[in-house]
Amino acid sequence: MAVLEKYGGRCAYCGVTLRLDQKGSTAFQVDHLHPRYLGGANDLDNLVPACRICNHYKKTFSVDQFRGQLALIPRRLEQQMTYRLAVAHGLIIPTGKTPTFLLDGDTP
Ligand SMILES: [Zn+2]
Repeated sequence: MAVLEKYGGRCAYCGVTLRLDQKGSTAFQVDHLHPRYLGGANDLDNLVPACRICNHYKKTFSVDQFRGQLALIPRRLEQQMTYRLAVAHGLIIPTGKTPTFLLDGDTP
């Protein structure tokens, strides 16, 4: 539970309030800032709370690599006609934002 409390019960990346019942995309998971796959330690300093989506997408990326992958998503979506249609009809509004994380001290 010490990991969960590091960011007030919120995902260290997107800031969503985490669920303890493990249901849905906001289920509480523990992420290794420096991936365990790359030798990251399994101690509290290296552990952060994450939602299922952020933890799944971050995989074995470092925090900076994860940020870089997120930044690519709008360009990938622009390749899809359905996305362009939704933008044309005002259903989705591109922001041009750079990804920010709660752990940066920013409000995502
Ligand atoms: Zn998240």
